[in-house]
Amino acid sequence: QSKVLTIGEVLVEIVATERGDGFREPVKLIGPFPSGAPAIFIDQVGKLGQAAAIISRVGDDDFGHVNLDRLKRDGVDVSGIEVDPLGTTGSAFVRYREDGGRNFVFNIRHSACGTIELKGPAADLVESCTHMHVMGSSLYAPSVVDAVLKATRTIKENGGTVSFDPNLRAEILNSPGMREALATVLAETDLFLPSGEELFLFSPADSEAEAIANLLKSGVKAVVLKRGAAGASYVDATREISLPGFRVTEVDPTGAGDCFGATFVTFWLGGADPETALRYANAAGARAVTRSGPMEGASTRAELDALIAEQRS
Ligand code: ADP
Repeated sequence: QSKVLTIGEVLVEIVATERGDGFREPVKLIGPFPSGAPAIFIDQVGKLGQAAAIISRVGDDDFGHVNLDRLKRDGVDVSGIEVDPLGTTGSAFVRYREDGGRNFVFNIRHSACGTIELKGPAADLVESCTHMHVMGSSLYAPSVVDAVLKATRTIKENGGTVSFDPNLRAEILNSPGMREALATVLAETDLFLPSGEELFLFSPADSEAEAIANLLKSGVKAVVLKRGAAGASYVDATREISLPGFRVTEVDPTGAGDCFGATFVTFWLGGADPETALRYANAAGARAVTRSGPMEGASTRAELDALIAEQRS
């Protein structure tokens, strides 16, 4: 069986219970919720019963242990998460605005996961994995960029496959060396999973079809385009499939793209046809938005089957 690896931030999210603008005034908070895009992704892979591992670093504190406990419970190999006795686990404070946008206060770069390195058990882990999933949002510090690029190259050289979700925030895109790092990852990518306009950041073109065609020409094997509530599309050299989103009530959009990507990758690695992989990924993305808390909406196979059966027309 293939084993999926990702590298990057493991943190907790602490959420304001009422909507409003940021944190300049005292607000009621709820948390900690396990979080970090790569952590949500790999938790969803583990929950589907696929072999899964993550390389990261946390402090020896409750915020770190809340993540280790959850990931272990859901079947993720956490031997690559170093517990740093001198470090502090990353955190993100989030408040939803009335307009649906979000304000964040992050402590990632200066937390334990800002110093992730590929050595010891983490380096051994790379050799045992056959698929690498890269999150653009994980490329926030030079040592992490280094670790991601090395692991991606090693897994590719060992005959494995690579998926890439740009998951970009503007401040990351503009940090030094980032565009080069992203281009390096894209050149190794088999499965590219952008969301909406992210497609054009990597493939400037006048139309979606042209942007995707250029990516396929450059060596990407398939593009999976996430379209929020409208669903998703899959395009490779011979097929083009679009499926509508499932009808659900959105409570908290955080984690939808990560659960979607994890589910698509798991089914793809298992040899499912692209339409089946897309249907299950859509179901996972839809279920993810129905729960508050970033990782709380990750699904089991049975939960995805139930949603698909319920909405089969
Ligand atoms: P990201 O979180 O990466 O920005 P999207 O917002 O496009 O990505 O969400 C990823 C996937 O999750 C979508 O392609 C869709 O399958 C599902 N999804 C997201 N929001 C909703 C929603 N409101 N209703 C149903 N499905 C959704």
